[in-house]
Amino acid sequence: VPTPIGNLQEMTPRALDVLKNVSVVAAEDTRNTKKLLMAYGIDTPLISHHEHNQETSIPKIIERLSNHEDVAVVSDAGYPLVSDPGQKLVQTTIENGFNVVSVSGANAAMNALVASGLSCYHYLFYGFLENKSAKRKKQLEQIKEIPYTIVFYEAPHRIEDTLKDMLDVLGNRKMCLARELTKVHEEFIRGTVSEVLEVASSCKGEMVI
Ligand code: SAM
Repeated sequence: VPTPIGNLQEMTPRALDVLKNVSVVAAEDTRNTKKLLMAYGIDTPLISHHEHNQETSIPKIIERLSNHEDVAVVSDAGYPLVSDPGQKLVQTTIENGFNVVSVSGANAAMNALVASGLSCYHYLFYGFLENKSAKRKKQLEQIKEIPYTIVFYEAPHRIEDTLKDMLDVLGNRKMCLARELTKVHEEFIRGTVSEVLEVASSCKGEMVI
């Protein structure tokens, strides 16, 4: 079940219904999800499921499914699994013969893509690049010939370095920096990589390239 990437109104009636009616919600951070559920008056119990406890949390979830319980999976924002925990859980659940379905909702990459002004006919979602410049450049080299819009997630403290590497490897192509999506200070900065680089140091908050 996806959760809002900023604006709390972006919970669909169906997503709320699912969270209300499952036996338990497996959450990346139970404190964050508790706040979200409380805002909607939902008191479904929460269990913790993230990259660091999945060896123990996944068997517990499979056991619940074996007892005919339904389990919802959420991360802190947007879709679980998309640059967030949940991949192994979904694989293991399917391997154990249980059904997995998805609920529609918020996703930062999609919001950024459709308002970017760049082509949405074909696109590659890359997610996060490596933190270190040498490794990051290697990753960019691998995708530089791809003739599609490419969508990256990035942290604000790395944006300048990452854009510099992109200018070096991908060239001065058209881009859009989408920040604080669905929030009060939402902004789409459109231009060439070098134009966006000029203002990148003053860009704060969550961002999609
Ligand atoms: N699972 C999420 C999704 O479906 O979009 C992504 C989670 S990932 C850990 C967090 C990254 O998503 C951030 O570093 C940023 O790149 C992007 N992101 C999340 N919320 C955003 C927002 N409101 N505005 C811009 N980017 C956002």
